[in-house]
Amino acid sequence: MSSGSDMQVPTVGELMTTEIVAVTSETSVGEAVSRMRDARVGAVAVVDDDELLCGIFTERDLMIRVVAAGLDAQGTRVGEVMTPHPKTVDADTPLAVVWPRINDWGFRHIPIESQGRLAGILSLRDIFRVRLWHVESRLNQELRTLQQIKSLLDLESDERAKELIQINARLSELALTDDLTGLYNHRYLKQRLQEEVSRSRRYGLALSLLFVDIDRFKEINDAFGHAAGDQVLRRLARLLRTTVGGSVLARIRRYDVVARYGGEEFALLLPITDTGAAMVVAERVRAAVEGTAVQLDGGKTVQLTVSIGVATLPDHGTDEEGLLGAADEALYLAKNAGRNRVAKALLDHHLD
Ligand code: GH3
Ligand code: MG
Ligand code: MG
Repeated sequence: MSSGSDMQVPTVGELMTTEIVAVTSETSVGEAVSRMRDARVGAVAVVDDDELLCGIFTERDLMIRVVAAGLDAQGTRVGEVMTPHPKTVDADTPLAVVWPRINDWGFRHIPIESQGRLAGILSLRDIFRVRLWHVESRLNQELRTLQQIKSLLDLESDERAKELIQINARLSELALTDDLTGLYNHRYLKQRLQEEVSRSRRYGLALSLLFVDIDRFKEINDAFGHAAGDQVLRRLARLLRTTVGGSVLARIRRYDVVARYGGEEFALLLPITDTGAAMVVAERVRAAVEGTAVQLDGGKTVQLTVSIGVATLPDHGTDEEGLLGAADEALYLAKNAGRNRVAKALLDHHLD
């Protein structure tokens, strides 16, 4: 996170805890603490009659201003010991920008506002989890590269005669990209999915998987020919990939994975992304495809649409299979609802 743009850090709005426990300044400290404990949060928002934020009361306030001061928790009102008028940060602010300020302020909990309203609370614990997540993400990337280098080094020890025959086979086994589109392939997606699922679970962070499937692609092949179909696939891949740099979808970040899952189906794997954010990404992809006419060699143009299924860990699945199944199910829902749409997996998936 200290390396700025390289890390493509998320905004505070993506990291904060949206579960806000709100009390009034008249609430007793004892009551506030028991509500904090129930919700497993380290801070409560103190709001006035108009539901505007007037203070924040944290575990640390409890230790310093109540326990250490020898006050009685039941007899003390939150208003007497809260941090009044705390500094707030807008939800769109990148974490990299907020981080130095948090350091300066020495706060462990920062109220986050969106359009002037309290939207959540960002805690140091949230930041800690996400930084660890990042470290591990980069480490895995390095390990993957090392593994590939090692496999290539191993090739050199092969006998000369076998080498030429094997080299192609082994290189294609190592390949993590799809020949036609240049996107990551199915194998890579599976590897990353495994990693991301275990990491997201470990740090309690959301992970979304989107399946993007071209609508009635067979008709495009039939009408314009297979080669034209291939051209369409390449164009769609480019459209999805340019989203990585943020030109179409600011929301797709460096550590997001864009892969060709098979035939005319693509997958987007979005770490640290809950269902709401994933639906926004999906809708932008859908609209971008709908708004793009694909130019074929020979001058014809094809207008295509996609259907997108969205599934999120832990809401719709808690392991790889669960997440894949849920994304597939969501895609099916989108197709069934008439195509050129986005659908999310049903909530009770895998929870029965
Ligand atoms: P739906 O809206 O239900 O998704 O309809 P569809 O026609 O897109 O779906 P279906 O799965 O029935 O057909 C997929 C087609 O994609 C069939 C196959 O010929 C075509 N296809 C798969 N891979 C390639 C490819 O690499 N190049 C080309 N040109 N076509 C492909
Ligand atoms: Mg299709
Ligand atoms: Mg398909």
